[in-house]
Amino acid sequence: MRSITLSNGETVEVNCLSCAITSEIIEPEGGTIINTEYFHAHQDVAYPIEGLVILASKRHFKSLDELTDEEAKDFIDITRKIRKAQREALGIEHVYYFYNEDTTHHFHLWMVPRYKWMYEFGHSVQSLRPVLLHARNNLNTKENRKRVLEGIEKLMRYLRLV
Ligand SMILES: [Zn+2]
Repeated sequence: MRSITLSNGETVEVNCLSCAITSEIIEPEGGTIINTEYFHAHQDVAYPIEGLVILASKRHFKSLDELTDEEAKDFIDITRKIRKAQREALGIEHVYYFYNEDTTHHFHLWMVPRYKWMYEFGHSVQSLRPVLLHARNNLNTKENRKRVLEGIEKLMRYLRLV
């Protein structure tokens, strides 16, 4: 069991944070971007990067080869839709995808937009952690958080329209 403190200050005990989010015991800040039969998309606003999306399976498992055929189809369909929404609604040209199986949570894909400022932290995979830390430590301004929340709304609106 892990103790999670919610944004309202309440503390809940959960076995798996991904289960708690996808079953909507925990409401992610900014809300649910989209729900499909097998997947749930939200933003982790602890990393205030406009257009960042975390796509988590609803079922608790860790590895890609554990996806059922139905889940695999839903996964690629929703990943493509979200990617298109990032491009069309937010003008995001490139995205980095990150997913690790040795997680304390469960199956979830990070879709991290690539912005110009990120290149000072290097190219490719080694820049991902410094970029995320920079965002968490330095971009948590009121103005940027507002931008991030507006980005979530733009994605939601786009995904509901298509
Ligand atoms: Zn889980």
